[in-house]
Amino acid sequence: MTNKGVRQENTMNIFELSFEELTEALIKLGLQKYRAKQIWTAVYCFGARDFSDITALNKETRELLGKHFSLERPVVSVLQKSADGTQKWLLKNKDNSEIECVFIPEEDRGALCVSTQVGCLMGCKFCNTGTQGFVRNLSAGEIVSQIIAVKDTLNDWVAADNRQLSNIVLMGMGEPLYNYDNTAKAVRNIMRDDGIGIGKRRITLSTCGVVPMIERCGQELEVNLAVSLHAVTDELRDELIPINKKYPIKELLKACKNYPAASNSRRITFEYVMLKGVNDSMADAKELIRLLRGIHAKINLIPFNEWSGSPYQSSDWKVIEKFGDVLNEAGYASPIRTPRGRDIMAACGQLRSQSVE
Ligand code: SAH
Ligand code: SF4
Repeated sequence: MTNKGVRQENTMNIFELSFEELTEALIKLGLQKYRAKQIWTAVYCFGARDFSDITALNKETRELLGKHFSLERPVVSVLQKSADGTQKWLLKNKDNSEIECVFIPEEDRGALCVSTQVGCLMGCKFCNTGTQGFVRNLSAGEIVSQIIAVKDTLNDWVAADNRQLSNIVLMGMGEPLYNYDNTAKAVRNIMRDDGIGIGKRRITLSTCGVVPMIERCGQELEVNLAVSLHAVTDELRDELIPINKKYPIKELLKACKNYPAASNSRRITFEYVMLKGVNDSMADAKELIRLLRGIHAKINLIPFNEWSGSPYQSSDWKVIEKFGDVLNEAGYASPIRTPRGRDIMAACGQLRSQSVE
C-alpha cells in the first residue's frame, strides 16, 4: 500500500511535526527513538515521497508509518519561469487556499522567498498582498512544505555540492511576526543539520515592524532581520504601514538597536521602497542616515513594483541612484534591488493569490 499522491485520512502530515514531536509519536507506535533521525534524514535530505522508498527501514515499519503519517506536498497549481530565471510557484493547500513562493537564483546561491500567511492583516498601502486582506495563518507544515515542493521541482535533494537552494527569505505573502509560533517552528525544522540544513545566517525574516516580537525572534531564532522601513517620518509611515501607529519609528529602531543577532558581520537590512515624490527626496535620505545612526545597518533600495490599481509609481532610476549615493557616502551599503521576475508578477509586493478576490 502506498500513499503516494493519495490523500490519506487520519494521517498526520510529517511536515507539521518538530523533531521532538516526531520522536514522541514514533515511541508511541512502539518504534525505537533512533528511527526519528533516520526518517528525518530520508524526508528532509533525500526528499522521500513515500515511506516505501525508505529502504533503511523494514517493510513492517514502512507500512506502519504509511498508516499513521503522510508525506503529502501542496499541489503545484501553476509554475512560472521568468526570463531572468526567477521561478514562481502557486501552491494549493489542503483547504484550497493558495500561496506563492519565489525562487531567485544567483550565480553561487539561490534564495527562496517563502510565505507565512494567506493574505496579510497589515494593509500596507503599497503592497498588493496587503490590499487583498487576510485569510489565515499558514501552519508550520505549510511553511516548510513550500521548500519541499520547490526542492521537488528543482531536484535539489541529497547533499549535492551544487545545491541550488542555499538561502531562505521569509518575505513572501504575510507578516511572519504576526504568525510567530508557526513561523518559529518551521524555521527550527529548516535549520536542523540532519535535514534541510539551512542555518540561521542564511535565513532572513522580514517584518513591517511588530516591535515586541522582534526581540523574541532575535533571542529565540537568531535569524537575520530585515525591516520594512519605507519612511523617515511617523506621519508618512502611519499612512504607508498602519502598524506604525502602534509601534512608531523610534520604538522600532530601538528594537533594531537591541536585536541580539545584529553585529558587525550581521547587519540589519532596512528595506526602503522608492515611491516617486513620496519618500525619495535627498532630505529623506539624510534623515534616514540620522535615524540609523548606531545601528549596524544595510539599506536595500527597492524600486516600487507596480500592480494593477496601485496608488504609487516608482521613483525614476536616476533618483534612486542619487538617493543611494547619499547613503553610500555616509558609509551605508545601499544596493538597489534589481527587480526579479517582474514579468511573472513575482517581484516584491506583487504576490497575490487567487484564493481571495
Ligand atoms: N510582511 C513582511 C514581509 C513580506 S513583504 C514585510 O512587510 O516586511 C516583503 C517586502 O516587499 C517588504 O519589504 C515590503 O515592504 C515590500 N513590498 C511590498 N509591496 C511592494 C511593492 N509593490 N514594490 C516593492 N516592494 C514591495
Ligand atoms: Fe503585509 Fe508586508 Fe505587504 Fe505590509 S508589506 S501588507 S506587512 S506583506
